[in-house]
Amino acid sequence: MSSEPLYLEDTARRTFEATVESVAGDRVVLDRTCFYPTGGGQPHDTGRLRDGTGREWRVADVTKKGDILHTLDGDPPDPGTAVTGEIDWERRYAHMRYHTAQHLLSAVLLERYDAETTGNQLYDDHAHLDCAYERFERSDLDRIEARVNELVAEARAVRWYSLDREAAEASLDPARTRIHLLPDSITEVRIVEIGGADDDHPFDRTACAGTHVADTGAVGTMEVTGRRTQGSAEERIEFVLR
Ligand SMILES: [Zn+2]
Repeated sequence: MSSEPLYLEDTARRTFEATVESVAGDRVVLDRTCFYPTGGGQPHDTGRLRDGTGREWRVADVTKKGDILHTLDGDPPDPGTAVTGEIDWERRYAHMRYHTAQHLLSAVLLERYDAETTGNQLYDDHAHLDCAYERFERSDLDRIEARVNELVAEARAVRWYSLDREAAEASLDPARTRIHLLPDSITEVRIVEIGGADDDHPFDRTACAGTHVADTGAVGTMEVTGRRTQGSAEERIEFVLR
């Protein structure tokens, strides 16, 4: 049995009760978890687990390799132990803001420059995004930044839900989601939408298994801090949130 990923539905949840399912070295699998594992350009959560006797472990790393593995400091609890988990909220919330900003930026790059996103990496205090484009001038970066901040100021709703793969493949824009790159084993796709004119016409709709804020207003002011060439016809845009 693999862990129930609580972070997919309720991204604002910080604490949870769980049972240790298995232990391998300093890594434990829980029956359910709020700890986000590294993936999709978003770093893992950190935090702590506690048992009923007051013992506490630091969660230093979280990866997903089939199961979600929590790397702990010190001797891990035995299988069957009931634990309370708590994620470091400041770090996670920053990741949610940056991840949502990345969706806005990707959508604006398509909207204004027909530039598809090819990669992204976010941290809790900066991020970068790669896209298929020749070369941005500073005036382009200023326009991109202004458009993203306009969407932030409009406080658009962000929502997420899962869709079976066939329906997702039939309805997702291939410029926004390279769904054919998902492994065949994925039968349910998580969709993330940023509100548009109405529910049938979202501003952006893509497949993503990361965590996001529920309203673009929470992203904060975005500032493009730089750009660089990532090989031919690929640009990297660097940004921070204030
Ligand atoms: Zn995302």
